Amino acid sequence: MSQRERVTTLGAASAASPHRYVLYWMQSSLRSTWNHALEYAVHHANTRGLPLAVVFCLTPDYPDAQERHYRFLLEGIRETAAKLADRGIRLQVVAGDPPQIIAGLSRHAALTVLDRGYLRVHAGWYRYLQSHAASPLVQVESNVVVPVHHAYHKEAYSAGILRPRIQPLLQHFLQPIPEVELKNSAAIDVEDFLSDIRSIDTERVTNPDYISGFFSMDSVATAVDCFSGGELSAQQRWQDFLDRRLDRFHLDRNDPAAAGSSLLSPYLHFGMISPVQMALDARECGSSEGVDVLFEELIVRRELSCNFTTYNQAYDSPDCLPDWAVRTLAEHAGDPREYIYRYEEFALADTHDPYWNAAQNQLRKTGHMHGYMRMYWGKKVLEWSKTWQEGFATLIRLNDTYELDGRDPNGYAGVAWCFGKHDRAWQERPVFGKIRYMNDNGLRRKFDIDSYAARWNDDQITARSK
Ligand SMILES: Cc1cc2nc3c(=O)[nH]c(=O)nc-3n(C[C@H](O)[C@H](O)[C@H](O)COP(=O)(O)OP(=O)(O)OC[C@H]3O[C@@H](n4cnc5c(N)ncnc54)[C@H](O)[C@@H]3O)c2cc1C
Repeated sequence: MSQRERVTTLGAASAASPHRYVLYWMQSSLRSTWNHALEYAVHHANTRGLPLAVVFCLTPDYPDAQERHYRFLLEGIRETAAKLADRGIRLQVVAGDPPQIIAGLSRHAALTVLDRGYLRVHAGWYRYLQSHAASPLVQVESNVVVPVHHAYHKEAYSAGILRPRIQPLLQHFLQPIPEVELKNSAAIDVEDFLSDIRSIDTERVTNPDYISGFFSMDSVATAVDCFSGGELSAQQRWQDFLDRRLDRFHLDRNDPAAAGSSLLSPYLHFGMISPVQMALDARECGSSEGVDVLFEELIVRRELSCNFTTYNQAYDSPDCLPDWAVRTLAEHAGDPREYIYRYEEFALADTHDPYWNAAQNQLRKTGHMHGYMRMYWGKKVLEWSKTWQEGFATLIRLNDTYELDGRDPNGYAGVAWCFGKHDRAWQERPVFGKIRYMNDNGLRRKFDIDSYAARWNDDQITARSK
């Protein structure tokens, strides 16, 4: 059973019997294993002797989602449906407005279980369900190691505040998640319980012709081939990282010319892999330095981002920044800028700087920019925008449009960090004020940055060659 701290009762409505199923709305934890919400739902279906209905809602107008995001997601849905079928569990995918569909289906449910996302769109869905669900409503948090409210009850100013709160809790929360066998595997067809619902064939969900019957998409960020979505791909990448890169992670992860990081952020974003599994596996087989650095990123930094978007509703606007950062940026708002670019020029990697262009090209072509380059990339957009506020908006838009892992708490925290969030004041300088500065000399001094630039600025490179 799930640790009780992961479980929150959101509503206590009671649908008229007969109850036909326990309902699990799988939305943020798209995986068949290491999923506290799924196992909680199976357990409660078994206790009641009911079948389990697992539903994923596909919404054509998810904020800022592009073709590359949908394709990655649909590949994941197909894999998870197949893996769940091996456990005797049916995943049904329906098109439409998620909370309305779930509220409708809850009318026949003994219990509705949901997993958890940390953005405003998710909070809005949960609020709707709290007032419209017809069954008891329980949320189970499975995409973080330490549940967000349990780690800290308010916004953490920096990693230094959250780290000492999270670390003593790791022993308790880093536990395997036993799989529970579903006893009543009678197949539920949700179309029998809700009129106007459109069910999508999970076998055909990755077929573009089939899916275009559900969605019409006008997308600037087309699909990429170097990442395929799904829990199997996630596990393969993870195993490869454990075997070949974890031991040197603390040495190689920052080098844009080395393949030192895990590349798992898109899978974490869609819930295709569990951070609990990753942390336990890593602790089992990695050197202590590599594991320490991975824990800092995967747990402390990532969960600082979830803390940020949970407690700071302005997370994607300059209003989220600390007072000192706003003050210093305002004091330098009139400083002359050596270069000024518009969003379109940034998006096309059309700046004077080959390193910046390389980072943007890597992002456009593969859907994933190297982590160290994200910091340089962000700092330069601050420096080369007409105003710092415009720079902030440009970065959010670039990140959400092109990163496969975009539209994520980490993305909003990463952009805000470029403008002083979760950081301290540094030596004052033009344009940046006291915000931390980065320059290309640092890149040249530390890395073989010219080979990185040559790789990504070659127009012949296709996404497949990564
Ligand atoms: C401007 C900017 C934008 C960013 N946008 C995103 C984004 O949209 N989505 C996203 O997931 N991350 C974002 N990051 C954070 C970080 O750069 C990426 O998580 C990391 O590069 C992903 O690559 P990886 O999976 O190989 O990471 P690894 O180095 O292998 O780390 C493992 C995991 O730890 C987490 N992690 C690593 N670094 C950080 C960090 N600095 N903050 C929070 N979590 C971290 C990620 O979940 C990552 O997958 C951004 C950072 C900046 C500065």
